[in-house]
Amino acid sequence: MNLLNLTSEELRTEMSRLGLEKYRADQVFKWVSKGVTDPGRMGGVPARVMDALRENGVYAALPKVVRSQTSEHDGTVKCLMEMEDGVRVETVFMKYKYGNSVCISSQAGCRMGCVFCASGMNGLERSLTAGEMYGQILAIENETNEKISHVVVMGIGEPMDNYESLSAFLNIMNDPKGKNLSMRNITVSTSGLIPKIDRFGSDFPQVNLAISLHAVTDEERSALMPVNKAYPLKDLLEAVRRYTDKTHRRVTFEYTLIRGVNDDDEHLRKLAALLKGMLCHVNLIPLNKVRGKEYEPGRERTAQEFREELEKHGIPATVRRELGSDIDAACGQLRLSSDNK
Ligand code: SAH
Ligand code: SF4
Repeated sequence: MNLLNLTSEELRTEMSRLGLEKYRADQVFKWVSKGVTDPGRMGGVPARVMDALRENGVYAALPKVVRSQTSEHDGTVKCLMEMEDGVRVETVFMKYKYGNSVCISSQAGCRMGCVFCASGMNGLERSLTAGEMYGQILAIENETNEKISHVVVMGIGEPMDNYESLSAFLNIMNDPKGKNLSMRNITVSTSGLIPKIDRFGSDFPQVNLAISLHAVTDEERSALMPVNKAYPLKDLLEAVRRYTDKTHRRVTFEYTLIRGVNDDDEHLRKLAALLKGMLCHVNLIPLNKVRGKEYEPGRERTAQEFREELEKHGIPATVRRELGSDIDAACGQLRLSSDNK
């Protein structure tokens, strides 16, 4: 068992079951949270402790960085990470004024099948464990020699389709004996699995929620995002209202502008009407071109027009700054290209 899957409390239980002192569990947990998994480098932890763990099949392993690209413009680092069984995902490190942010993957592949997305092109390979999500953060900190202050679960996969691991991951990140990352510094993005949004609002009211909207009618959204057939727009927006009523937290709607698909005046008008009065913020995203897909990004001017018009309706909106544009294979493409080799 990889101990990256455990909270400090669970590691304490595990270690006392093996007859080891509980405070040793806290030491080991702390070292791991600093990205140290080599027993020889865990200062203050006697070799007998790590030996006892290993003899009982408990070890610490990080994903392996098999490829890494650094943007020359802004220091964004994109890594292809390999898990113990060989599955690969992407993890991205980004520098912002407010700190360092990491975008992690929650699954290898995705079964939601959104038509503009590279991550779901070959379906779902498997979901990641909590330790594999946590491991991406530790591995990219080691790779970049930087510490992170913010986490977004917006890489490959649908996090709400892997809810148990997602919850365990959030608890590990928040554990005061380890990373001690505030729930408020974590954002989870979903394509709109309503039952899980309801659960998330109760379980993690402090974690930021982002909803991938991308369309303003059921017909158009179902064509882009098959998940809309199960959870249509009206129900989704109701779920978001329940969420904001309960948590009083502002939700982010992600709207990727796709030329000729969702970016004309009529879309803009409907978008403003749909979201009026909601406790929300709109993030307008330039589409990343995906090899083998015909969709083109909306124009930069369109994004600014959308932003201004939404703001006139009292809906805060931003145009996502493009980071790492020189290494910008759309998320999911690095993994796809590595499969084809
Ligand atoms: N599965 C979750 C989280 C991962 S996708 C979700 O869909 O929300 C993260 C964001 O990237 C989503 O808003 C998704 O719609 C968007 N996205 C996917 N492919 C994209 C592309 N080619 N260009 C721009 N954004 C894309
Ligand atoms: Fe999956 Fe999100 Fe991509 Fe849709 S956009 S296929 S939900 S990763």
